[in-house]
Amino acid sequence: MNDTIEHLATLVREAVNITVLTGAGISTESGISDFRSPGGVWDRYNPDDLNFQSFLSSEESRKIYWKFHREFYLPMKLSKPNDAHYALAELEQMGKLQCVITQNVDNLHQRAGSSPDKVIKIHGTACMVRCLACGATFDREEIERRIDEGEEVPRCESCNGLLKPATVSFGQPMPEEETSRAFEMARSSDLFVVLGSSLVVYPAAQLPFEAINSGAKLAIINLTATPYDNYADVVIHAKCGETMKRMIELVKGDT
Ligand SMILES: [Zn+2]
Repeated sequence: MNDTIEHLATLVREAVNITVLTGAGISTESGISDFRSPGGVWDRYNPDDLNFQSFLSSEESRKIYWKFHREFYLPMKLSKPNDAHYALAELEQMGKLQCVITQNVDNLHQRAGSSPDKVIKIHGTACMVRCLACGATFDREEIERRIDEGEEVPRCESCNGLLKPATVSFGQPMPEEETSRAFEMARSSDLFVVLGSSLVVYPAAQLPFEAINSGAKLAIINLTATPYDNYADVVIHAKCGETMKRMIELVKGDT
């Protein structure tokens, strides 16, 4: 294991434009539950109520969706970035980080010090709410206060359109600008690092392919195996936080 972290550190030392993809695994280390894992919030809800079509078509589903999302949001707000988030902020300071593409909606990268313009949120953010009709955005806290005061399904104050957390729900189209930027960043990197993603959901599953196809090296840090392990230059099946912390120490020459 030390050998492989050493190898990862060497790849990072040699790289100039690193693109990192982060998935649920990095957030679970901060105590944020993965929707899809057993025992998660997901288990207590019917997925049919939570997809985008139901949100658009049924007031009852919208009520359930907001209730569900609140159960995710309140603990998320109290969570803290971990060593993996801080390691990425440090890579940015070293001038090596091209960007972080994240599947997470929790804002922990920015809270750890990553610049907002270096973080591409391909699944949106739970910290904002967007009007599906006029596109206006609102701070999540402001909308949560309205829910506290009794609104079950908040609506846009200017156009009465449906408000929804600015995350990408099942069945909801991916944000075009973020997705195309993510692909561009994968292709222009010389090292692509996967942190805590099993690489099964699109577009995460496609990004490492774009990167290696354009000549990048590939490193994967994930607790379980991924479909890309055989194509990677280094694979580490361990926690993201401890691995990245050690890697940064090695890159900086501390022991
Ligand atoms: Zn509106």
